[in-house]
Amino acid sequence: MFDGSPPDTPRAAPRPERTLRSAAELVAAGLLPEAGRAAAEAVAARYAVAVTPAVRRLMDPADPADPIALQYLPDAAELLAAPGETADPTADAPFTPVKGVVRRYPDRALLKPLLACPVYCRFCFRREAVGPDGGVLSEAELDAALDWFARTPAVREAILTGGDPLMLSPRRLARIVERLSAVPHIEIIRLHSRVPVADPARVTPALVRALDTDRALFLCVHANHAREFSAEARAALARLHRGGGAALLGQSVLLRGVNDSAEALEALFRAMLAARVKPYYLHQLDPAPGTARFAVPIAEGRALLRQLRGRVTGLAWPTYVLDVPGGGGKAPLGPDFARLEDGEWRVDAPLRPEPPGPE
Ligand SMILES: *Cc1c(COP(=O)(O)O)cnc(C)c1O
Ligand code: SF4
Repeated sequence: MFDGSPPDTPRAAPRPERTLRSAAELVAAGLLPEAGRAAAEAVAARYAVAVTPAVRRLMDPADPADPIALQYLPDAAELLAAPGETADPTADAPFTPVKGVVRRYPDRALLKPLLACPVYCRFCFRREAVGPDGGVLSEAELDAALDWFARTPAVREAILTGGDPLMLSPRRLARIVERLSAVPHIEIIRLHSRVPVADPARVTPALVRALDTDRALFLCVHANHAREFSAEARAALARLHRGGGAALLGQSVLLRGVNDSAEALEALFRAMLAARVKPYYLHQLDPAPGTARFAVPIAEGRALLRQLRGRVTGLAWPTYVLDVPGGGGKAPLGPDFARLEDGEWRVDAPLRPEPPGPE
């Protein structure tokens, strides 16, 4: 292909694609207008920014309402805190028995080995904590956290989160999975990750091998839009499924402008299922600072899910949950189809009783 360089001029090797991490890089890549640079710089000084090559390929710079760009590109609105927003909306801090562990429930606890993510979501509930620098447990701290799991027999499930546990080196991840698998009372190892959709190239054979365990291993993939299930993402998920036999679950956040219609949710959940990912949770947005532009009221969320019930395969139905502010745990938000009226249960039918139409 003619590329403008005169014949016989030695050309520089193509630069490997890199993750974009600053306002200047986003402007240079044509993802932000020059006029937006100063505001984006101010946001990036406060909250981490990262757009991987895979995510960049999903973006459509010609679409001013692009549901992918909206999730990752810094916006001036992030510097405005709305009433009710807090730095630690899920109140992890009081539930931390040792550094890197959060135990809010009797039978399961989080292990946060690092705070880095492949991308930084603009609506993140841990946005005050996550970022590329710092936030990695030292070897001694990781040992202490793993020891805590080993001497806490009521805890049957270790949930690796962060940050994103698939950002660990395969060697470090393998060590954690091995140590947890050696604890007799750990029955389930769960990982929450955005890597399979945000940076599928990280899902190497070594990373898949690191997850090899005789314990039940659940990988909960965070994705919010059907388009995130690209061919590369689906291939990465297939490697994870076939490699160690991980069970794949999906978690999404209900987000204004990204998935706030019945059509967008249906497409998202269908794309998940086609990639062997069972929708597990649809989260109500946690009120982290500067995230109000993404908020969808609970009544609207319930109405959206109600439209899917019956019409879309039951496999697609997630539990719609709110992490109750202050650390009370995740509560299901419905919608309910049953209610007590004058001592009698009334149950709404999700479908009108008509047979399905012709083929
Ligand atoms: C979300 C969460 C869990 C997992 O809850 P499940 O309902 O089992 O998915 C565990 N611990 C903490 C602190 C959490 O925030
Ligand atoms: S991947 Fe998860 S933890 Fe990381 S920025 Fe996004 S929402 Fe936050």
